Amino acid sequence: MTKITREAALLYHSQGKPGKIEVVPTKPYRTQTDLSLAYSPGVAEPCLEIQKNQETAYDYTDKGNLVAVISNGTAVLGLGDIGALSGKPVMEGKGLLFKIYAGIDVFDIEVNEKDPDKFIEAVKAIAPTFGGINLEDIKAPECFKIEERLKEELDIPVMHDDQHGTAIISSAGLLNALEVAGKKIEDVKIVVNGAGASAVSCTKLYISLGARLENIVMLDSKGVISKQRTDLNEQKKYFATDRTDIHTLAEAIKGADVFLGLSKGNVLSQDMVRSMAENPIVFALANPTPEISYEDAMASRPDVLMATGRSDYPNQINNVIGFPYIFRGALDTRATAINEAMKLAAVRAIAGLAKQPVPDVVNAAYHVNNLTFGRDYFIPKPVDPRLITEVSMAVARAAMESGVARKQITDWDEYRNHLKE
Ligand code: NAP
Ligand code: MG
Repeated sequence: MTKITREAALLYHSQGKPGKIEVVPTKPYRTQTDLSLAYSPGVAEPCLEIQKNQETAYDYTDKGNLVAVISNGTAVLGLGDIGALSGKPVMEGKGLLFKIYAGIDVFDIEVNEKDPDKFIEAVKAIAPTFGGINLEDIKAPECFKIEERLKEELDIPVMHDDQHGTAIISSAGLLNALEVAGKKIEDVKIVVNGAGASAVSCTKLYISLGARLENIVMLDSKGVISKQRTDLNEQKKYFATDRTDIHTLAEAIKGADVFLGLSKGNVLSQDMVRSMAENPIVFALANPTPEISYEDAMASRPDVLMATGRSDYPNQINNVIGFPYIFRGALDTRATAINEAMKLAAVRAIAGLAKQPVPDVVNAAYHVNNLTFGRDYFIPKPVDPRLITEVSMAVARAAMESGVARKQITDWDEYRNHLKE
């Protein structure tokens, strides 16, 4: 991988038109007639139709293909609370990814408001514009309340990608890694290091997939989250263990089958990995520096199944293989929500894809010729052209089956071809 320098990054963002996205008209605008249709007087007609029947906004405007990427800048990347405007390059970047991977238009919206109630009101007030809302880089624990309330009060899909994107991709990776390890999710002991936005959501989805709460130990910066602690927020309390014999990561991880790290770099030692059960699954996802480096984990013992958040090692847990396609399926069915059934459908579609023969374009992009399901490949690659059909179709189907679709897809072959365009 080429090393990314500060100079190169700043030049990339500033050269030509500053920033990374722009608005492009989709209708003719050359003649006076075109303009009279696009704006006054013609534009009044669709306005009146929408006034009569709000659903027709999906027919006469970009609502059905427009997602808001909304942040208050309180937890931007690993940079922390840098403020709404400072986070704008990230939100524009997310817009770029939505567009190139799934053809979805994005308005990035940076809201200068840290108070959760006021932030919720701001998002609610602008929601009519959009077919869906991607909450982004909002700090825990406020992000939990913000997402929960907006889901309750809005009739369009709302997803906090830092929570659920990560949960969906890592769940797909976990199901496949367990298959390689020859273990069942119901039986495995899981240690989760970190108790923030992503860790809580990942662990809840693992439970939806069959993991047992009593087999899970979660840690935060103060150590094991146990019932004896008096400093826990609601989310942490849910995971508090009865065990009184473990306090540190080194104690908690002995004999564990799975380590999920969503905390900070270099907190997992080789000795700790060596103390885990056979075929240990190590998802060291802290970015940019994982809880243990790929090299150190692999050198600690030969049977490790490893994933990181990084693109320069096998098995990258990267949200980009989820969010564009999850929103694509939700928008195409005019779903009122992204619910549990749709998330689980995405998990299974992503997991299933890693077991299919890999197309040449994917091998070529990674300069290999033989990616096959196994230890070094149990998560699909972001460049996989099948993601859009497999994941979007699974999500759309789940939206219909779970009763949140306002539009039914009937011709699936046609939909598949449309997605490939
Ligand atoms: P967050 O909400 O700030 O949560 C961080 C959590 O880590 C907090 O619960 C914190 O404890 C805990 N923590 C900090 N130091 C710790 C330590 N030494 N031992 C145990 N726990 C510790 O952040 P987040 O959004 O969940 O992200 C966490 C990390 O995961 C970041 O590095 C982020 O880049 C990475 N991430 C990666 C992906 C991916 O796909 N690869 C996706 C999402 C996030 P307290 O609660 O006590 O403060
Ligand atoms: Mg994010």
